[in-house]
Amino acid sequence: MTPKEQNNAINSNQELTPLESALPTILDSLHVVPGSDVLPVSSALGRVTTKDLLAPISVPPFDNSAMDGYAVCAADLTGSSTLLPVKDRIPAGGIGQKLSRGESARIFTGAPMPMGSDAVVMQENCEFVKPGESLIRILQSVKAGENVRKVGNDICRGSCLFRAGHRIKSTDIGVLASLGIENIEVKRKLNVSLLTTGNELQPPGDSLATGKIYDTNMAMLSSMLSELGCSVTAHHAVADTFGETLAVFEEAAAESDCVISTGGVSVGEEDHVRDVVNSLGAIDLWKLALKPGKPFAFGRIGGDDFLPKIFFGLPGNPVSAFVTFGLIVRPSLFVMMGCKPKAPVSFKVAADFERIDVLGREEYLRARLDSSSKGAIARPLKNQSSGVAVSLSEADGFIVVPSLTKVNYGDYLSFIPMSEFLY
Ligand code: AMP
Ligand code: MG
Repeated sequence: MTPKEQNNAINSNQELTPLESALPTILDSLHVVPGSDVLPVSSALGRVTTKDLLAPISVPPFDNSAMDGYAVCAADLTGSSTLLPVKDRIPAGGIGQKLSRGESARIFTGAPMPMGSDAVVMQENCEFVKPGESLIRILQSVKAGENVRKVGNDICRGSCLFRAGHRIKSTDIGVLASLGIENIEVKRKLNVSLLTTGNELQPPGDSLATGKIYDTNMAMLSSMLSELGCSVTAHHAVADTFGETLAVFEEAAAESDCVISTGGVSVGEEDHVRDVVNSLGAIDLWKLALKPGKPFAFGRIGGDDFLPKIFFGLPGNPVSAFVTFGLIVRPSLFVMMGCKPKAPVSFKVAADFERIDVLGREEYLRARLDSSSKGAIARPLKNQSSGVAVSLSEADGFIVVPSLTKVNYGDYLSFIPMSEFLY
């Protein structure tokens, strides 16, 4: 037995770390990466705010009509058929004249309420006394404030909209625009080097050579990283030799905040990633009690004690890479971006399957959801092989089967929707 094989044999018997203890240890060891950018709001999607954001104005900025109708003073309406002269016509974007008691104004949705009015009667509840005449009959009275959108009803000037560390979504961009905010300070993008390893990998495009497969992980993970607002440097198909792996990891660590690799992190002789990371820094954690995703590794490569370059070694099988990325890398990147990660939302579903074997690892089964008279039921996809990337496209999410657990039909298990990993 070679020393490497001996070492591997010892390691393969080491205890596997459960995700629930590995994840907090990893997250606690991470630092927020320094640096910020000031960007147009329209370019800030996925970025993280550096400070609390206070509303510079109220929204809406003035009382306005929620209906097409007639602005009135509610106290003028007596009984069910008050007659009122129509003094003005106020479209959205216009400004009306002050109304005296007993007067009304034709008003449209979004137009400012004229002074002297405090309610809007919807046009369906009014009629002209004679066609063309500027006198209306109010068929149904209103209370003060009815059909009026008050100033600040949506956002009050000075209120805190987003705390520092908020990741900007497209809906937030709408809110920022409604406040007239043009530029915003956000944390700088994380620079991530993404490496796929394996002599068998070929990038999409050329026809496939014998014995080769197309590289799934690079395309999948680089798009997931871009979606998270990271800047990605790709190192395709690093050859399975110690020398080449070392050279690429050195370059990757120098250029980025974080290095993510796939493949080559298991116990075979063609797996060099752990040896390389140990020679450049340290592996702090290896092997999880998780299926898929057992050979996951975490560590550091260079940098300094205050800001080490972080290493995530994902398994090569695309499903294992996806699951470990979603469960561990994603929240870790959030911490490094300066925003608090939130555990994936899950809900209970009834198992539409049974499993009598028990496994000593927590398992994430790709599954489809269905409805039944008893509520949501989940059924695992037939092929749970971790090489089947198409199952990720077909699945609605993951059923989580705890370690050492049998499953009977109707048992309630946690289900994590796919969307929890994707944005
Ligand atoms: P490894 O972890 O390197 O032993 O790889 C495990 C399995 O995943 C092997 O069948 C590899 O061919 C496959 N694999 C590794 N990297 C990729 C990749 N980037 N895209 C698709 N399959 C991969
Ligand atoms: Mg490999």
